[in-house]
Amino acid sequence: MKVVVIGIGLIGGSMALEFKRIDPTITLVGIDQNDNHLDQAMAMGVIDQKGSMKDIDTADRVVLSIPVKASLHLLPTVLDRLPSNALLMDVGSTKAALCAAVAAHPKRQNYLAAHPIAGTEFSGPSAAHLGLFEGKPQILCQAKKTKPELLQWAKAQFRQMGMYLRFMEAEEHDRHMACVSHLSHISSFMLGKTVLEEEADEQNIFDLAGSGFESTVRLAKSNPDMWAPIFEQNKANVVDILSAYIANLEQFKDKLVKHQIEDLHQQMKNTNQLSTILNGIKHNN
Ligand code: NAP
Repeated sequence: MKVVVIGIGLIGGSMALEFKRIDPTITLVGIDQNDNHLDQAMAMGVIDQKGSMKDIDTADRVVLSIPVKASLHLLPTVLDRLPSNALLMDVGSTKAALCAAVAAHPKRQNYLAAHPIAGTEFSGPSAAHLGLFEGKPQILCQAKKTKPELLQWAKAQFRQMGMYLRFMEAEEHDRHMACVSHLSHISSFMLGKTVLEEEADEQNIFDLAGSGFESTVRLAKSNPDMWAPIFEQNKANVVDILSAYIANLEQFKDKLVKHQIEDLHQQMKNTNQLSTILNGIKHNN
């Protein structure tokens, strides 16, 4: 089997490693705009060969793992070239625009819209590793539109990676992601920006910031090349959730100015229930 991964970074590289672990007989071909990444992926054994778009013509499986704006442009072209019994899946963090881009494509059945809820703030093939997807959800959107035998293959692969499957519509996916993922990244980026602007002495940031600061701004180390297109593609949902978040921040400031400390205390106490929710989610896995 010939598997082509376009975008051999954190997600594409980790998926390539998993495919190879599951079936060592596959040939893994990497395509990437970044030649250094292809060299690194070869050296690390993540891919067997460097390839080009011509490899799509003879591929059995193709994974598209590049920033979502580039995916939107490339998806129909890759589908055009794909053999009629092959599968193309993308792993992008937005789904509605990508599904819409190929909705009327004659090979729509060869496409699977996936989003592994797994990742780190690091990028490139050096960040790729086995086990990244273990215990994590794989969201599949509009799965009924994918040919059953291709869907079955993909589901079996994800399960062998230790993932559990969630199915939803693409629009629903984007709404949920704006809330639980995209907002956290914006909030982390803007927290980091505020601290950099207000705390002129970098040594103070280094010396005085505790682990709370470090864990809250972890996501601010994420790659803007990946995140700017996500915010752009999910703009309507992100703007809605940002408005709700800003209203909460304004309200917090207002209560503090008015010395309504009991109210703030109660709000923080109510928010502590997140810990139960998140522990429950881990337990359910
Ligand atoms: P990454 O580590 O930066 O890897 C992406 C790779 O694709 C890089 O080597 C990049 O090269 C290359 N690339 C960019 N545009 C390209 C194009 N037009 N043609 C060919 N290669 C191109 O990114 P990632 O974190 O793996 O993310 C990949 C996809 O997975 C994104 O759609 C993202 O939304 C999704 N995703 C990410 C996470 C996460 O936490 N990171 C989680 C789930 C899903 P350059 O270095 O030159 O840019």
